[in-house]
Amino acid sequence: MATAALKEIRNHIGGEERSASEGSEPVLNPATGQQIALTPLSGEADVDVAVKAAAGAFQGWSETPPGERSLALLRIADAVEEQGEELCQLESLNVGKPIEAMREELPFIVDNLRFFAAAARMLDAPGAGEYMRGYTSMVRREPVGVVGQVAPWNYPLMMAVWKIGPALAAGNTVVLKPSEQTPMTAARLAEICAEHLPPGVLNVIFGHGEPAGAALMRHPDVAMVSLTGDVGTGKAVARAAAETVKRVHLELGGKAPVVVFDDADIEQAVEAVKVAGYFNAGQDCTAASRVIAGPRVYDDFVAALGEAAGSLAIGDPMSEDTELGPLVSQSQRERVEGFLSRAPSHAERVVGGKAPQGEGYFLEPTVIAGLRQDDEMVQREIFGPVVTVQRFDSDEQAIEYANGVPYGLAASVWTQDVGRAMDSARRLRFGTVWVNDHIPIVSEMPHGGFKQSGYGKDMSVYSLEDYTVAKHVMVKLGARVSPDGPAGP
Ligand code: NAD
Repeated sequence: MATAALKEIRNHIGGEERSASEGSEPVLNPATGQQIALTPLSGEADVDVAVKAAAGAFQGWSETPPGERSLALLRIADAVEEQGEELCQLESLNVGKPIEAMREELPFIVDNLRFFAAAARMLDAPGAGEYMRGYTSMVRREPVGVVGQVAPWNYPLMMAVWKIGPALAAGNTVVLKPSEQTPMTAARLAEICAEHLPPGVLNVIFGHGEPAGAALMRHPDVAMVSLTGDVGTGKAVARAAAETVKRVHLELGGKAPVVVFDDADIEQAVEAVKVAGYFNAGQDCTAASRVIAGPRVYDDFVAALGEAAGSLAIGDPMSEDTELGPLVSQSQRERVEGFLSRAPSHAERVVGGKAPQGEGYFLEPTVIAGLRQDDEMVQREIFGPVVTVQRFDSDEQAIEYANGVPYGLAASVWTQDVGRAMDSARRLRFGTVWVNDHIPIVSEMPHGGFKQSGYGKDMSVYSLEDYTVAKHVMVKLGARVSPDGPAGP
């Protein structure tokens, strides 16, 4: 494709579309490696203008009644729904996600927006009360201020919505920086939002983590920073935020265990891992990436998963039959291949592991068995179409293996025994625990990590709480409370 014909994405600041100060760079289609758009490269100057726009809009938006903020979000949800097919095509083109998977995601994204719209009107605080004689106390729930938000490339539209939804619902103003690799659906979302929000309430700037993301995270007028990304990036963001004591919200990586006890329904567990291990080519922070199977079912599980994974239809993301698209970039594929090339000698490659011939950043669905707890592939997030399988000897060891990684985002446990399921759910140190399933999520429930998977929640009323600050207002009462004072009516 000739550069002249490329769509040129622009920053959205203060209700206007603007070029970035540091030029632009091509966006690639991961299925072909071809250029599909140009994305702006923002720098510190662009971040500063965007933060000033958000700061200028803060008073008006924070004083807008929740019902009106809610209505704006509902209109945005309607527009996203109406333009759904176009958004699906854009995301599929930019991320390499199979189009059918994106069509399944879209109604959930719309539902997220409608949930935030509704929750904006339901923020709870304790009722006013007298906790000291002569005083009434009450709690006000107020927006934090200007929020700087940075999103990853694996679910660009959904992550943008999870970020801006609760922040705007709660009355904050926002500067969002999507991933430099996947700007296309966020750019379209910015255009939609511009029709329904006052200028400056949502500003979307594009560019790399350094300089654009980092400048946003350390800007003195940003009151809160929110990142979804890698653990290393989260640590850098938390360090930068500490300089001006910003509130920090971090949704970081995961390494989800799938604990399959000997009494589990193996067929269902294999089917779930076939979907949840390879969904979005395994580039999912909750991917069912790490199976820990009981001694009696281990061999059957490995054989059945190898067969199931090997049957996945790999190919053009725009084809409705495709189940597995490419990885997002050449460097992401090289990262995954690096893990495979460093596999220890005791690891057994059951299926996959090769890059098919031809264009695009494809990698075969892969199952690696026989791994030990301290192996790199068990301990680190691979973020590709690779599922590892380990064997455990006792219930105690199953939980120990599951918890024995630095991450704590999501886990699943497979058993027919209610007591074992409940006990496992209690002991697993993860923000989500599924029993006899893996991957479904709902807008009403929180999503977020334990341990190095971060802190703060997406979705649910908990996310709105993260984007508000509680203020205690204490009122000294008048003469009526004094025993010697004049009596009231
Ligand atoms: P990444 O950390 O490389 O990048 C995420 C975003 O941070 C990008 O927009 C990037 O430009 C920006 N960034 C990079 N360095 C920065 C810095 N120093 N300061 C500010 N911003 C910076 O992550 P990625 O590769 O885009 O995404 C994959 C990661 O995201 C995986 O670890 C995955 O598990 C995680 N993730 C987590 C969740 C969750 O809900 N917990 C959801 C999706 C993805």
